[in-house]
Amino acid sequence: MNEDSPHLTLYVHIPFCVRKCPYCDFYSVPDTRIGEQQPYLHRILTELQYQRHWTQNDPRPLHAIFFGGGTPSLMHPNTIQTILSTIQTQWKLTRDCEITLEANPESCTPQKITAWMEAGINRISLGVQALNNERLKQLGRPHDRAEALQALHHLQTSGIQQINVDLIHSTPGQTWESWQQELSEAASWEVGHLSCYALTLEPDTPYHTRYTQGKLHLPEEEEALTLFVNTRKFLSTRGYPPYEVSNFAKPGQECRHNLNYWEYGDYLGIGASAHGKWTDSTGQIWRTANPADLHTYLHHPLPPPEPLPKDLAGIEWLLMGLRLTRGLRLNRYRDITGHDLLRNTHEIIQHRVADGLLALDDIYLRVTEQGFPLLNTLLSELI
Ligand code: SF4
Repeated sequence: MNEDSPHLTLYVHIPFCVRKCPYCDFYSVPDTRIGEQQPYLHRILTELQYQRHWTQNDPRPLHAIFFGGGTPSLMHPNTIQTILSTIQTQWKLTRDCEITLEANPESCTPQKITAWMEAGINRISLGVQALNNERLKQLGRPHDRAEALQALHHLQTSGIQQINVDLIHSTPGQTWESWQQELSEAASWEVGHLSCYALTLEPDTPYHTRYTQGKLHLPEEEEALTLFVNTRKFLSTRGYPPYEVSNFAKPGQECRHNLNYWEYGDYLGIGASAHGKWTDSTGQIWRTANPADLHTYLHHPLPPPEPLPKDLAGIEWLLMGLRLTRGLRLNRYRDITGHDLLRNTHEIIQHRVADGLLALDDIYLRVTEQGFPLLNTLLSELI
């Protein structure tokens, strides 16, 4: 490992939610199983030791820690504190390590925020998702508009360093006009970061079933595209340039943990359903994938890390890096795969640069604003 080595971050998955939202395919279980919080905590502490042991020769400090879910804010703050202090006994943290916790409005109280900050959390990602009650109900969210605004107020008066707000667009019946009102209000809050995801139909979700039964009507493809393109333009004019497909930040407020992921850095994944990627001192990349099942995670040995072939690593890196507005660093491809990307895909890239969909300089290959709506097509051409 040297100064050009990718950053190392750590992700902890907390798989409990108040109830399951009908569009969501993240691994989570209803909080009726919150009784399993204690065994889950113990398993996480054991896994932290196991992952440290496995990566023991890695001298890199953690650049970011991210508690995602599920709904990490449902956990007792002592649980978060115990996990964080255990992490600090095993790893060094960078002096300005970003430590994020995902929170939902209904569990974001002033007492909890204070306890999270005392534990070391310095960034909260708040799952607001929509700003009117009709849309929140449609999304099956357990909070209403008033609770979202109250949680935001608590966060903004708490002194926490960084706040992200998550929103969802392309929901049933949504038009650009109605979405623009929500965006405009969110931008007026002056938080550092906004994530605006398009609703996607995931297999085996109630939304998917309703859609295939003709009971759910989503915006047509062209309308969804308008929402996507206009969101990027609109938030840029409000001081939130997009730095990734769906993520917008004031300068310097980009999410480090997610940036590291898109830059194909290394991250350790702890908890049920968590995935990890780690590069050893020879340059070999290893993958970990924990079972997306609470019982299996709690009671069975974890699957061992698997080596990732170089060609697959090159594909993963393309899929991640081209999501970033600044694009991907060309010399990283050579570091990862031993090949020259431009030599392998020269003709396709030249065509797409001429079409104005890609842009190329000595350091970066990037997708242009005109190219972003066609990102999936561009990626399949390159792969
Ligand atoms: S709260 Fe988040 S993680 Fe939990 S079910 Fe809803 S969308 Fe999924």
